[in-house]
Amino acid sequence: MMSHYIDNFADDLGPEKVVHIYEPKSKLRAIVVIDNISLGTAIGGCRMAKDVTTQEVFRLARAMTLKNALASLPHGGAKSAILADSGTDEKEALMREFAQAMKTLTDYIPGPDMGTDETCMAYVQDEIGRAVGLPKVLGGIPLDALGMTGYGLSVAAKVAADDISLTLEGARIIVQGFGNVGKATAKYLSDLGVKLIATCDSKGGIHNPDGIDIPQLIKAKESGVTVSKSGTGKPVSNEDLLKIESDIFIPAARPDVFTEVNQELLKTWLVLEGANIPITHPAAEKMHKRGIMIVPDVIANCGGVICAATEYQGLSESDAFKRVEATVKSNTDELLKRVVEEDFPPHEIALKMARERIAKAMSYRAHM
Ligand code: NAD
Repeated sequence: MMSHYIDNFADDLGPEKVVHIYEPKSKLRAIVVIDNISLGTAIGGCRMAKDVTTQEVFRLARAMTLKNALASLPHGGAKSAILADSGTDEKEALMREFAQAMKTLTDYIPGPDMGTDETCMAYVQDEIGRAVGLPKVLGGIPLDALGMTGYGLSVAAKVAADDISLTLEGARIIVQGFGNVGKATAKYLSDLGVKLIATCDSKGGIHNPDGIDIPQLIKAKESGVTVSKSGTGKPVSNEDLLKIESDIFIPAARPDVFTEVNQELLKTWLVLEGANIPITHPAAEKMHKRGIMIVPDVIANCGGVICAATEYQGLSESDAFKRVEATVKSNTDELLKRVVEEDFPPHEIALKMARERIAKAMSYRAHM
């Protein structure tokens, strides 16, 4: 194992540690970034994907530092990535080896992320006794099955829609990425009368102005059919999906989906960041100037980590729902109020809100 300190992206908050894991005898290649632990042991997802860079893991770890602080959790922020295809037959072996390789990084508690799930976390727990997002039988609260992040996004939607005088009944949403987050968000929002008019997965999308049949789409996805072949709408390319007019757009797939250039395609009133860092900084500024309201990831998609922290404290599923609702509601309220009062874009206000809370925690620490 070797460790690097990469100072071209370091600042006053972190990162605390950047570790590259390289096991010559096996196929394990991984990156762990522990960003800031002033609020406590860091919690953050472990993703499995071939194309993740150290810089991306750092940015995701920083998003966790900010998100955990905003969610008032006694946890700092971290993230990790196992550089492998998530469909590999050797997933269990990789997860177990990864757990052993990071056993001594006791400031980090991993959870599930893209390409990993509760079974992966059960392997980590079995190896080193330190993981969240566990199966129910091991004391876990099944955050993806319950759609906790999607539930939080629906709470943010209610608050933000009210703020911009958008009626949710009949409002048109587009969800980019019909995975754990996208699917749950669509379900919770449809309970509020919102109509899913377009969605996609990595292989393409569908458009149905009359409203996509969500249970039928979920059934098709569960049987291995792609979104575009689900028969629930007219197939569209993932690029054309961005051009469809909507009231609410929810990116729930990959980072950096919206750039300065393609943000111009977006015709919507409200963007709720389901994915982490889906909008680049310059793109967010342009969208703000165009009058699009954005509720940033660190505020809108904290449902999953609140659930994970609630599980870690040994509390129940209903405690998790209550905490998600109260936290997302009060943070979205504060964000929208301060965007107007302080006249800054939402991402900058969210960053200020988080930094204020972290600075307070850091002020109590003698050894950083
Ligand atoms: P997932 O793997 O279940 O779903 C991702 C979806 O995005 C899939 O449908 C996939 O096909 C699609 N996708 C991938 N690449 C795409 C592309 N280039 N274009 C269009 N679609 C594409 O993952 P998830 O758990 O739903 O997470 C989605 C995002 O939300 C990630 O950024 C993750 O970090 C973030 N997030 C997840 C949670 C959670 O609770 N699962 C919490 C907070 C943030």
